[in-house]
Amino acid sequence: MDTEQDSCERLVAQAVNKSPLIRLLISALDKSGCPFSYDRHISCEPCKKGLAGGYDRKLNQLVICQNYCKDVATVEKTLVHELVHMYDYCSSTIDFSNIYHLACTEVRAANLADCKNPLSSFLDGNFRLIKGHEDCVKDRANRSVRIIYGVNTAVASEAVNKVFERCYSDLEPVGRRCFDKQQQYAAFHNYSKKQNL
Ligand SMILES: [Zn+2]
Repeated sequence: MDTEQDSCERLVAQAVNKSPLIRLLISALDKSGCPFSYDRHISCEPCKKGLAGGYDRKLNQLVICQNYCKDVATVEKTLVHELVHMYDYCSSTIDFSNIYHLACTEVRAANLADCKNPLSSFLDGNFRLIKGHEDCVKDRANRSVRIIYGVNTAVASEAVNKVFERCYSDLEPVGRRCFDKQQQYAAFHNYSKKQNL
């Protein structure tokens, strides 16, 4: 019988296969001098409750939480999110002890991976009404900064708000927000065209 880790690894392979956005980010990592290998840089592991994944910068490895990521869509979203962190760590000087640097990469990851709906409002875990894409990105980034730094909402939102404008408009290396598969293919197409120039 398949172990939880086996099925997580199978879902990772499926996600990579069906996602132009994942392939784009992996290619961009290669181009930025950080060659990526699936076996070396992705690890399916059990995690503590509430976590979907993580980027372990000491091992330079993406962690996919096998007890949380049980379907291909969740694995895909988590991979894209963590790949954005890996790309940021590879292509710029990030000091993870600086809350503004962390807030920036969390805004970028939420912007490019997590918030898929450009328009609609939704209720978050505390039944607060979240309006639109920018609020979704702010909310996700806030949550990550709170969890990683162990700070309260006021400290996390101060950091997120301070970097928001600059980091929300920084769409490198994807070049656009992708709300569906078609937009992912368009991003991949434009990215490949640029690389061949
Ligand atoms: Zn993150």
